[in-house]
Amino acid sequence: MDPTDLQPWQWPEAQWRAIVDRVRAGRPLRPRDWPDGARCAVALSFDSDHETNELRDGGESIGRLSQGQYGNRQGVPRILDILHRFDVRASFFVPAVSALLYPDEQRRVIAEGHEIGIHGWIHERNSVLPAASERELQMRSCDTLESICGVRPVGIRTPSWDFSANTLAITREMGLLYDSSLMADVDCYELMMDGENTGVVELPVEWIRDDAVYFNMNRFAALRPYTSPREVFDIFRREFDGALREGGLFQLTMHPHITGYRSRVWILEELIRYMQSQSGVWFATHADIVRYVKQHAT
Ligand SMILES: [Zn+2]
Repeated sequence: MDPTDLQPWQWPEAQWRAIVDRVRAGRPLRPRDWPDGARCAVALSFDSDHETNELRDGGESIGRLSQGQYGNRQGVPRILDILHRFDVRASFFVPAVSALLYPDEQRRVIAEGHEIGIHGWIHERNSVLPAASERELQMRSCDTLESICGVRPVGIRTPSWDFSANTLAITREMGLLYDSSLMADVDCYELMMDGENTGVVELPVEWIRDDAVYFNMNRFAALRPYTSPREVFDIFRREFDGALREGGLFQLTMHPHITGYRSRVWILEELIRYMQSQSGVWFATHADIVRYVKQHAT
């Protein structure tokens, strides 16, 4: 019998162990202290998916594409204005197609001191791609962002956090500093592949700290927002409070085309105001936090 025909409950131990060990959290990377005596670190991120959320499944809905364009016309400017007002640096993860549609947006993000990281070509799902296609797209996306922004990305966030069995090997081959798509911890850690250290750092995300989970809506499916902005703010604030109490890391993911509305963007503003009212909070890009923890891990 072909071993691939076996059902999971029939798998030999070596088979399920190999699946689990393909990509694994290794050494924790938690510094004893944060820079300048800070008590915790804050990593804000914005995934500028814009029209690629529609395009990636072959969709051509003009209505949904217009929601993507809102991300560029209203979402990103509102977010950048808040970051500027509070003097906070953040990370933007941008599909190459978004960057090609809106090169000026990316140049403004870089000019204002933020980081731009890889976020796929057209927000493709890595786990359904052949390995060679994933590798080619990831490399081409990096080159495209570099040619538009003038800065070569050092990190990746896989689109929809869809991380294939090949993603880490490609990320390591490219010499990237970090990934930010996985969820094995609240603090940074080194990624392991097949039981070996890779040197690639994970700055972990969580759906709990992602606006899309609470606010996504599709007119022709059953998907509707199910949490009020006030409650979303409360969840994010409690996640931050825990990081401050534990001396750890608070990472947040938002989307310009989801959060960049008058009734929601206040969540970001209030959250930053609240975090800045606490003493000893270090705001930094994902790349800067990863560089720091790599150097100062206990
Ligand atoms: Zn995305």
